[in-house]
Amino acid sequence: MEANLEKIIHMRIKRTMENLEKNGMKALYAPDKESALALLKTMLVPGQTIGVGGSVTLSQIGALELIRDPKYHFFDRYDQSLSEQELDEVKKKAITADVFLASTNALTETGMLYNIDGTGNRLCAFVYGPGKLIIVAGYNKIVPTIEDAIVRVKTICAPANAVRLGLDTYCAKHGHCINAGPDRNNLMFPATGTCDSRMCNNAVITGRQRPGRTTVIIVGEVLGY
Ligand code: SF4
Repeated sequence: MEANLEKIIHMRIKRTMENLEKNGMKALYAPDKESALALLKTMLVPGQTIGVGGSVTLSQIGALELIRDPKYHFFDRYDQSLSEQELDEVKKKAITADVFLASTNALTETGMLYNIDGTGNRLCAFVYGPGKLIIVAGYNKIVPTIEDAIVRVKTICAPANAVRLGLDTYCAKHGHCINAGPDRNNLMFPATGTCDSRMCNNAVITGRQRPGRTTVIIVGEVLGY
């Protein structure tokens, strides 16, 4: 990374970490995906039950391979042999696991997380259930405010995830939400009409947390979207 840009990004990371801490979340920094994985490994205990939210970031750092080690009890939502009913059961178990791993759609310099979800299982775990919540996020997920987080979701996260999942949404075809016109006041709300496969059905802002439950690992690389 260019040296001057790197300085600015590190200022943003530092500010974000300080405000996450003020909001009761433990904030850790990992310079790259290898160190993020090593850090994550130190936080997991053999025998723990582990659930995950759908995440490109977790795949990129190698977290799924790590927790498939039989010394952990991973509720593996990616097991291709699962029937639809079995997958639903796995997702339900994941939201009461000892540890839940996820990334975040955005994190703000003011120390909050912003996430949207189609079915809501991932958001359930953010709010309540798992004993520990561990979030891994590339620095590219940092935005100044919650308003910027909402725009990020509607112009980057949702379109890219809709393309990845092959969903028939407006954003998959146009690269931004059907609501992302000149008047962005309604961006937080789900689109109607032409967006029946939408993933923006639920939204959770993670503000101040009870200390000891949530850890956020910010990685000094671009990860996920
Ligand atoms: S509401 Fe629909 S079109 Fe808008 S970002 Fe979400 S999935 Fe895409």
